[in-house]
Amino acid sequence: MFWDKKMETLKSKDLESLQLKRLKTTVHAVQDIGFYRDQFAKAEISPADIKTLDDVEKLPFTRKQDLRDGYPFGFFAVPLKQIVRIHTTSGTTGKPTVVGYTRKDLDTWANLIARNMTMIGVTEDDIFQNMVNYGMFTGGLGFHYGAEKIGMTVIPSATGNTRRQIEMIRDFGVTTIHCTPSYAMHLSEVAEEMHEDLPTLKTGIFGAEPWSDTMRHTLEERLGVTAYDSYGMSELFGPGVAFECPERNGLHIWHDSYFVEIINPKTGERLSDGERGELVVTPLVKEAMPLIRYRTGDVTMLMEDGCLCGRGKKLARLTGRSDDMLIIRGINVFPSQIEHVLLRIPEVGNQFMVYIDRINHLDEMTVEVEINRSHFSGELADLAKIQKKVVKELHDTLELRTTVKLVEPGSLPRFEGKAKRVIDRRSDM
Ligand SMILES: [Zn+2]
Repeated sequence: MFWDKKMETLKSKDLESLQLKRLKTTVHAVQDIGFYRDQFAKAEISPADIKTLDDVEKLPFTRKQDLRDGYPFGFFAVPLKQIVRIHTTSGTTGKPTVVGYTRKDLDTWANLIARNMTMIGVTEDDIFQNMVNYGMFTGGLGFHYGAEKIGMTVIPSATGNTRRQIEMIRDFGVTTIHCTPSYAMHLSEVAEEMHEDLPTLKTGIFGAEPWSDTMRHTLEERLGVTAYDSYGMSELFGPGVAFECPERNGLHIWHDSYFVEIINPKTGERLSDGERGELVVTPLVKEAMPLIRYRTGDVTMLMEDGCLCGRGKKLARLTGRSDDMLIIRGINVFPSQIEHVLLRIPEVGNQFMVYIDRINHLDEMTVEVEINRSHFSGELADLAKIQKKVVKELHDTLELRTTVKLVEPGSLPRFEGKAKRVIDRRSDM
């Protein structure tokens, strides 16, 4: 099913001419923003130099730090009275990033989300429980207005009170849920404790943190849903930038609205389809806060083959933000790899924490994981065997020696929003 069939299936010639037209508009729109005025002057370029889509490479990159430096309103391209909403990104380090929206932006964003949700077959007949934070985080209101646009029955349950969430799913006959994959896992554990099997659920939309295909199978089995991956970031409106279609082999990104490049993060050079690198996006339809060549820090590639569903080129599933990547004794480790290994081992549960320390100048990684309730007999010999198995499996995948601590079921923290499973204590030393 399509929400906007014409835009979703534009043929390359029509798509490219629309992209060029919108790119020119965007470059005009940013020229009075201080950062771009300086950058354009430095590179001796003006909007008139953009004649073809390849000319985008003449334009400067925009980095997250540039947005922080512009705090709070330095990147707004319209007067504040035209901005009808502000969101901020979670500032894990330093100041948050502020993003603004005009009335038209909010409508454009809701329509992009309506495209995503219609693509996976949800309609006005569906009942949608949106279990993410409704505050400054864009995930709550973003999905809310997209789902309302379709005409779904929306339950803005936000996060917290998991037992109440489960009662609402049961009592209201909820068919579709949206949350982080970690929260979905927690939800399934609590549903199990309550002996609720939630038979009306059919669709799960999970995003805001990277998750593996193993996690997908686990969530599908435990919740009885078909699970779809959703990718977004506040700088590019919020959620809804890229989304899986029913093929669930890569994420569609709306090329009429986002101009996509994949670059080598070290050299800035553009890579070909099928080559993995950093995702760089120039949004083509933003009014309040247009950006040029925004470096997402996320690692992916443009997939060469088209899609059976008839929409444009897809992005490969994202393996993690370059910020999430840990370097331990010179080896690159993504927390999603650890999760992937642990989910394959039936004797341990789904909850884990990773601690990284520097001891005698050497990086040491400790993984704490809960024993699966059904394997928790208290027999020390059994535990030693399981522990050895986890160490070996982690070593086989990561090529890294780790210390594994098995802990009691239910003893590790559960997360309602983005999970914080990695505690890097090296900087404290
Ligand atoms: Zn598709």
